[in-house]
Amino acid sequence: MEMAYTIFIFLFGLVFGSFYNVVGLRVPQKESIVHPPSHCTNCNRQLKMIDLVPVLSYVFLGGKCRSCGYTICWIYPAIEIWTGVLFAFAYWRLGWGIEFIVALLFISLFVIIIVSDLAYMLIPDRVLIFFLPFLVVGRVLSPLTPWWDCLVGAVVGFGILYVIAVIS
Ligand SMILES: [Zn+2]
Repeated sequence: MEMAYTIFIFLFGLVFGSFYNVVGLRVPQKESIVHPPSHCTNCNRQLKMIDLVPVLSYVFLGGKCRSCGYTICWIYPAIEIWTGVLFAFAYWRLGWGIEFIVALLFISLFVIIIVSDLAYMLIPDRVLIFFLPFLVVGRVLSPLTPWWDCLVGAVVGFGILYVIAVIS
């Protein structure tokens, strides 16, 4: 049964990875994450459901757009697989529980950051701020260390980067 859950969570991760590609590419451009629907970046043709199956569509289309033959970057399916693997790994290590949810939140945050960092060399504040309250709630519900540890970590982490930003 554990195996079945792990596989299910891997597949769940693939779908989320596909969505995080969209989020990571659109949020830094201040575009909506739902509109317009996914399209080829070369010929603008709107993708059908059959083109949007994580990993499989990429494999069946031979990594090319169905209409214009434009090469689709291998990073998209790689991100999908990576998200699936990390989700499954988190479940395998942690099982059901708050820690698992916190792990999924962290994985989601990092995958989105990786996509926008690769594409634009940007880590959008909006993504960080969106995840902040969820992660704070997760840590309050499931503390690993005394609460002030997290606060000191946050202040020091922010402080160092802030000083670097001011100086540079
Ligand atoms: Zn195309």
